[in-house]
Amino acid sequence: MVEIGNEQGDFKECVGFHGHVCPGLAIGFQAARVLMKELGVRRASDEELVAIVENDACGVDAIQVMTGCTFGKGNFIFKNYGKQAFTLIARNRRRAVRACLRPGVLDRDRSHLALFEKVQDGDASPEETKQFTRLHGEQARRILEADPHSLFKIEEVSTEAPPRARIVGSEICDGCGEPARIDMLSQVHGQRLCIACARRRFSSAKTKDTTSTKETGNE
Ligand SMILES: [Zn+2]
Ligand SMILES: [Zn+2]
Repeated sequence: MVEIGNEQGDFKECVGFHGHVCPGLAIGFQAARVLMKELGVRRASDEELVAIVENDACGVDAIQVMTGCTFGKGNFIFKNYGKQAFTLIARNRRRAVRACLRPGVLDRDRSHLALFEKVQDGDASPEETKQFTRLHGEQARRILEADPHSLFKIEEVSTEAPPRARIVGSEICDGCGEPARIDMLSQVHGQRLCIACARRRFSSAKTKDTTSTKETGNE
């Protein structure tokens, strides 16, 4: 693995959490490192840091390990924008920095791409899988060795930190009888329903509507 001083252990920890070495994980690792450096912060033990990720790919695992912002603590926010962009907010400093991957950084040559497709389709031979793993590892290493500023556009942003996580009580859903967070229950035709039951109710009502319209149309 790459020599990156004391941070070598940190990347190993990310690999341990994620399960494999890949360019995406290296991107997340580098993003977390540079964002924490820009803000002058260390890994969050509580909620003083908030991470916002704009994709759900490999790199977000490194963001969680490195920043200590996790899905479960409520200080890890996923925005499904399909962008390799990561924002870190330091509550006590009232600052936020965003890193967005520069175009071309994750580009692969044709043979790497062809192998990637084969591996994803499950059509790669053991030899091809080995070659793919090597190419993927090499790309990850190049990313780990790169200057973060060459990888990302990095800028200070103004982002409201979301309210700190609160413990909210649960109550029973009238539809399924399962406990759900009180603020997630809604009143539907006099019943208090969880989101799943409210959706089911809504979609079955819609189906009935369509059926009746059709019937009327046929008459
Ligand atoms: Zn991965
Ligand atoms: Zn329910």
